[in-house]
Amino acid sequence: MGESGDILEIRRAVRALCADFPGEYWRIRDRDRTYPSEFVDALTRAGFLAALIPEIYGGSGLKLDAAAAIMEEIQASGCNGASAHAQMYIMNTLLRYGSEEQKRAYLPGIASGELRLQAFGVSEPASGTDTLSLRTVAVRDGDAYIVNGQKIWTSRAEHSDLMLLLARTTPREETASKTEGLSIFLVDMREFTGSGLTIKPIRTMMNHSTCEVFFDDMRIPASSLIGEEGKGFRYILSGMNAERILIAAECIGDAKWFIGKATDYAKERTVFARPIGQNQGVQFPIARCYAQMRAAELMVHHAAQVYDEGGNPGAEANMAKLLASEASWAAADMCVQTHGGFGFAEEYDVERKFREARLYTVAPISTNLILSYLAEHVLGLPRSY
Ligand SMILES: Cc1cc2nc3c(=O)[nH]c(=O)nc-3n(C[C@H](O)[C@H](O)[C@H](O)COP(=O)(O)OP(=O)(O)OC[C@H]3O[C@@H](n4cnc5c(N)ncnc54)[C@H](O)[C@@H]3O)c2cc1C
Repeated sequence: MGESGDILEIRRAVRALCADFPGEYWRIRDRDRTYPSEFVDALTRAGFLAALIPEIYGGSGLKLDAAAAIMEEIQASGCNGASAHAQMYIMNTLLRYGSEEQKRAYLPGIASGELRLQAFGVSEPASGTDTLSLRTVAVRDGDAYIVNGQKIWTSRAEHSDLMLLLARTTPREETASKTEGLSIFLVDMREFTGSGLTIKPIRTMMNHSTCEVFFDDMRIPASSLIGEEGKGFRYILSGMNAERILIAAECIGDAKWFIGKATDYAKERTVFARPIGQNQGVQFPIARCYAQMRAAELMVHHAAQVYDEGGNPGAEANMAKLLASEASWAAADMCVQTHGGFGFAEEYDVERKFREARLYTVAPISTNLILSYLAEHVLGLPRSY
């Protein structure tokens, strides 16, 4: 696949940075469930997290294909981009719908690393995948909005200064269409921690710094609103294609890591006086995962290309996410099997990556919901929900 010299150079530079964060670094953070601040700071200093920020605001003004290459290489190096990936895809909403004033106020600080934009508050405990029935409300009061409600799975909220928040500003029954009445806010969380904003970490099967967030009469300035009131769901949807493509690229990186790790081990490990990789029963699952990963990778590149050309890659982004998350999960399972008992030992990193890779057929969108999208919007089948 003919990638430009610039992208190849970005890949090389990301790999060089990641080499300073070997398995041992991640094992310690995984065991303690601590945030990999040093890694996120290094990515920020190198400018990788500002890839999508235009140059006039201090970023590198790159396209999504470059951002996808960055995320893929992080995962393929054995690191965990989940600690920082949201900055890339949240950015899109601010870039597309934020006012010039908001962009000037926040983007240079985000690009320099002075500010972190890592938290995305959409999911709620009661509404689940049915985002339109979310219950967090923001009520206009003079020059402010008063926010009440709760979010769940707001990852990195403890390690972010800013949060992109989706809340209802008009009761559902008062809107003409059910997709209206939700609004997007850029909340400066530093102002409200302990006064209207409470963050509670959720311990999960992998180190993901995810949290519950409670809003209790949190009074945010009206200037936090992004774009037009009531149009937030539309803004979020348009950002989701970028999110899916970036997550899919991460899954490709994971699949490459699992395939590389399994191949190396299958060459080295000798049982019955020959390398296990000489047995077709061991070779074939690795070869199958490689083919599955390459097919998914083509779809990820294609989706990024459609996005970068200004098209609407709804179908392509969804298919990229579906195929890549399945390819990475198949490779994770194969890698454990290839390692036998050692696949379960912490020091091989396989079990850690296995736990981390499991997320992506569930979040940020589950496989069923992608299949529903394709069935309805591509194949014209009746809407099922
Ligand atoms: C570690 C982690 C980090 C996350 N980070 C964030 C974050 O930063 N910000 C954020 O906003 N959210 C975040 N999420 C939330 C994530 O996006 C949701 O968990 C995901 O979208 C699924 O929603 P749910 O958990 O409510 O599942 P539910 O909606 O309760 O669904 C449960 C199951 O039922 C299936 N299902 C539901 N409805 C249908 C249907 N109509 N047809 C077929 N199947 C259906 C789903 O596919 C799923 O398998 C995170 C989640 C996790 C676990």
